[in-house]
Amino acid sequence: MKTFTRKLMSVIIAASFCFGLASCSKTPAASTTAASSETTTAAESKASESETSAAESKAEIKTVNAGKLTMATNATFPPYEFHEGEKIVGIDAEIAKAVADKLGLELVIEDVEFDSIIAGVQSGKYDIGCAGMTVTEDRLKSVNFSTSYATGIQSIIVKEGSEIKTIDDLVKGKYKVGVQSGTTGDIYMSDAENGGVGEDRIDRFKNGNDAVIALLAGKIDAICIDNEPAKAYVEANKGLSILSTPFTEEKYAIAISKDNEALLTAINNALDELTKDGTIAKIIEKYIPTK
Ligand code: GLN
Repeated sequence: MKTFTRKLMSVIIAASFCFGLASCSKTPAASTTAASSETTTAAESKASESETSAAESKAEIKTVNAGKLTMATNATFPPYEFHEGEKIVGIDAEIAKAVADKLGLELVIEDVEFDSIIAGVQSGKYDIGCAGMTVTEDRLKSVNFSTSYATGIQSIIVKEGSEIKTIDDLVKGKYKVGVQSGTTGDIYMSDAENGGVGEDRIDRFKNGNDAVIALLAGKIDAICIDNEPAKAYVEANKGLSILSTPFTEEKYAIAISKDNEALLTAINNALDELTKDGTIAKIIEKYIPTK
């Protein structure tokens, strides 16, 4: 337990540090629980006045398809992205639409497997990856990340009445843990040396939905997934519950190709404006109401 938490801490701390290097906006991250903005110092407000606005920076932007902002996501991650009929909705879909509007681009959403998003952004297939994606040290080697717009933590879903009551029970027992392939839950849980259950007790799924089906069918004993989708899955399926875990916070941000600095700047400017005018807080509150 302790080791697992410590490992998470180090990944996140490192990620936060690198994140600072990768992005240039001074916008504070909106928290999924309290999407409030921090007070900026006089020096910071002065600096941001001299930065280009989203509208000013859009002239230099080149995208995969001219006039369009192509976003890759995996739409099985409620409330960040999920299907409502044919449409993909959620916090990420709405924030990306607001960003695209600011940049004068049409948002196009591609629903792909989560573990193909970074490579797709890196190779120039998509302009952005926006998928409740955690900033990690490793991912920062392949892509840039925008300013963070939300936070998440890892949770464990079990069947109601399960003998797994704590993360310690999960790690010490012989239980099988389902994860979504390539996610931070997968990374942490596969690493037995740092508090995870280890490779041989991991079952990888294409998405959270498939993991939930396997849990309900008794093929796995638990799922490690981000807290908001965990809550949504537990609400939508009878007989599941979430273990309260003291996991560390992860920062969600938009992945952008390292070859497209202009797009990174423009997106950070747009996110800054959307944070300041309350749009981001409003979108998060719509999907994760605090009142
Ligand atoms: N936040 C997790 C990650 O970035 C999971 C994201 C997701 O499954 N969409 O790995």
